[in-house]
Amino acid sequence: MPFQSDSSSPRVIPLDDHGLQPRQFSQNALTVVKRLQSLGFEACIVGGCIRDLLLGKTPKDFDVATNATPEDIRDAFKNARLIGRRFRLAHVRFGREIIEVATYRGEALHAGANEANDSPLAVRELDQGRLVRDNVYGTEAEDAMRRDFTINALMYDPSTETLRDYADGYEDLKIRRLALIGDPATRYREDPVRLLRAIRFMTKLGLVMDEDTQAPIRQMAPLLQNIPPARLFDEILKLFLSGHAWETYQALVEYGLWDQLFPNLFSDPSQPPPLVEQGLKNTDARVIQDQPVTPGFLFAVFLWSRVQIRAEQFIKHGTPPVNALGEAADEVLIEQAQTVAIHRRFSSMAREIWCMQPRFLKLNARRGQRMMTERRFRASYDFLLLRVTEEPELKEVADWWTELQKNAPQEAQRSTPPAKRRRPRRRRRPSQPAAGARG
Ligand code: ATP
Ligand code: MG
Repeated sequence: MPFQSDSSSPRVIPLDDHGLQPRQFSQNALTVVKRLQSLGFEACIVGGCIRDLLLGKTPKDFDVATNATPEDIRDAFKNARLIGRRFRLAHVRFGREIIEVATYRGEALHAGANEANDSPLAVRELDQGRLVRDNVYGTEAEDAMRRDFTINALMYDPSTETLRDYADGYEDLKIRRLALIGDPATRYREDPVRLLRAIRFMTKLGLVMDEDTQAPIRQMAPLLQNIPPARLFDEILKLFLSGHAWETYQALVEYGLWDQLFPNLFSDPSQPPPLVEQGLKNTDARVIQDQPVTPGFLFAVFLWSRVQIRAEQFIKHGTPPVNALGEAADEVLIEQAQTVAIHRRFSSMAREIWCMQPRFLKLNARRGQRMMTERRFRASYDFLLLRVTEEPELKEVADWWTELQKNAPQEAQRSTPPAKRRRPRRRRRPSQPAAGARG
């Protein structure tokens, strides 16, 4: 159902109706909005955080939209920093919390018929209409309408405690409907990452995808070939590390998107190796229990079957078995990086996990004690346990290692990775040029 209401006059939802209390918002975000408003600018809290609050979830972060320019914002806050070259945003820092403040964006420029493009023909034709520039300032209404899904376009104004809804997102949230704003094919063409975002929001939030939003996905899936591998990597982490990895995997396969991310990885992606299914289910269980999950392990799980096949081929062609696994690992990781840029620290972790596997077969208590102190032991042991789902003959080996750890003095076991304190990382936003994204 295409969106039809008059986009310049929003539906205003009063406090009585939406029920969101100021204390549910980040106080820092409220401070930013109030300060901008006191200087005479328009400002509101916007996007995913409103959606999450209305769904009773805790938002990851709070974003602010305003008609103040980035320079205005920088002048208004001494703790503000401008980021992004193509579309500049301000980050206003309050201790560990960063509030992202973006100037309203308006009508964007689309790729035209003669734009130079070296993608394959089928993709090139589909590609007409990709957003090539979206660094144009706009009004609040335009800013709402350039967002992806109706449920992501709600705006909260703390001064009146009302929501402004330009895209019927409030109703959609109530009936748990996921729908793109505007014509779905056009919106996917503008930015194909929305194909993945559709799957992500559907599974993560338990929404029902609107038929029109669903219909073009399969056909448009090849457009993901035009997305920079670094941006796909970011998106994959969000897809698989939010507690719904197994469901997400199945949906990606169903909609023909999996093959764009991991081409020809499994002979029949609808029947992935048991290790993959179990690995994803374990990841979900860990997320739910608030245990750490690492992308390195995830990629080790996905790519293992290919690494094994490749290693066997190497051995057939004369590579000494001790080297085959490492060489296969390198090749598979390089190959996969053409589609999805795997950050080096994660690809080396996957490699270390794989290369430790043959060493588990040597059941020698003294060597075992030493191995337990190695950095990747814990992750590699977890991986060994996963392998039992495919290779039941490894059960005894796995049990031996389980026993060894039970009997080992605590200090001999260094849990891996040594629970490092994560530095608060700067959020990379879809609109930063590094990821070639738009948001
Ligand atoms: P999450 O919970 O994953 O952070 P989110 O909705 O906050 O979900 P972000 O990627 O943080 O997602 O983006 C913030 C907001 O920016 C979105 O709610 C949406 O309004 C807008 N947005 C992000 N990416 C896009 C995109 N590719 N196209 C259009 N709008 C986008
Ligand atoms: Mg967000």
